[in-house]
Amino acid sequence: MTQIVKSELAKKVIVPLLVLSLLAAMVGVMAKNNYVRAEEVPGLPTFDIPALSSEHQASSLPNVIVVATGGTLAGKARNDDPTNFQNYAAGTFKMEDLVAQLPRKDKIADVSTFQFGNKGSGGYTIKELYDLSLAVDAALEIYDSAVVTTGTDTMEEIAYFLDLTVRSEKPVVVTGAMRPWDVIGTDGPANLYQAIKVAGSGKTKWFGTVVMLNDVIYAAREVTKTNSHRNDTFDAPMFGALGYVDDPAVRIYRATARAAKAGTAEWASPFDLKTISKDSLPIVEIVYSYQEAGGGAIRGLVADGAKGIVTAGTGAGGISSQLGTARTAAIRDNGVVFVSTTRTGSGSIYDSGNGSVIGGDNLNAAHARMMLLLSLAFTNDVSKIRSWFTTFGTQDVEISVDENTVMKTTVEELIEEPIVEPDVTEPVVVEPTPTTEAPAATDAPTAEPTVEATPETAPVTP
Ligand code: ASP
Repeated sequence: MTQIVKSELAKKVIVPLLVLSLLAAMVGVMAKNNYVRAEEVPGLPTFDIPALSSEHQASSLPNVIVVATGGTLAGKARNDDPTNFQNYAAGTFKMEDLVAQLPRKDKIADVSTFQFGNKGSGGYTIKELYDLSLAVDAALEIYDSAVVTTGTDTMEEIAYFLDLTVRSEKPVVVTGAMRPWDVIGTDGPANLYQAIKVAGSGKTKWFGTVVMLNDVIYAAREVTKTNSHRNDTFDAPMFGALGYVDDPAVRIYRATARAAKAGTAEWASPFDLKTISKDSLPIVEIVYSYQEAGGGAIRGLVADGAKGIVTAGTGAGGISSQLGTARTAAIRDNGVVFVSTTRTGSGSIYDSGNGSVIGGDNLNAAHARMMLLLSLAFTNDVSKIRSWFTTFGTQDVEISVDENTVMKTTVEELIEEPIVEPDVTEPVVVEPTPTTEAPAATDAPTAEPTVEATPETAPVTP
């Protein structure tokens, strides 16, 4: 009888209690981290990426897909006036038609297109960028590389968002134009052609997303728009170009910190969008500091729900005293996470290692905002966010040698022929070479006086 009562008690009370407390613990962990996680979030968007045609499958050219979002490159001059350089409707022409107009694609790639959208870059929401990133990854499951066309205004943000989120190691090349497609001297067709050439070359595989305009290739993390109208508006103020596209070569002159991690687990970003819902993408804003800037911007943004704020400070990241007071209150009362950057256009803000203000390293405010936004979509843990800011894609070159490194210190050692071990199965017959003359004097550099000549390299005297 007691046995029956005990097992009934276990079934009806203890087991449900255990299950409930386990569920509560799981919900607690998820709420603390504030993200919706799953192996693959249900309801992920799907995209009508075109299949490879049999013609393209049979050809030996690389298969490149152009994922089009609009911008000036697809812009149409107002009133059909081909001199309306700045009076046009961005995002008008369809990419399929623009690619069809490109000559001599047979020299560079088999090109397909996917029209993701057709509007100005500033018109895209962060949720749409989430979709764009997934579309690019879906396209790269089929194609060798992708070109993404966008408007130039927010190109650096879109490109860096893709850099931080696309999972594929295949090349992603973002391009656009400063003049609409149908004006005289447009840069649109050349930029589109050259971007396809870069993508098709495969040279930027493992580089993450790169930006290419005017034949110059930049890392998405480093590039910024520097002028409102000029064709050569893009630059990477701290590091310069990654490489160039010339005819016919694509040359990459240096590797980014990320590319140096190719093939390792650290290469992939921590931000796998397939594991979060786009509703987890939080509000993150930017505040600019200047002489006697008031604290209202921070207070207003926090009232609007900002979970993170990037400050574009003066010099080495300084903000006005009123902004400073508002920042302290936002951290204390609302748990807002701040990232400090500089408004100077170049330079690093080093991290202090603690607190809720993270140094933005060499990211500009717009880039840092994308990094913070994605970070806060994945965790509320400030130390984790700090570690992403200080390690993911950040350059800090250090060359080290260890006990396995063979040190060569003299000219003789450096030019020494590799030692070939004699084949011991065959008897080695060494013919003595009669030497009758001292070696002639040359201008060749002599060995350091402290280096003892070994019998093998010692000059032979008669
Ligand atoms: N307003 C345009 C945009 O960003 C400018 C451009 O495409 O260059 O979409």
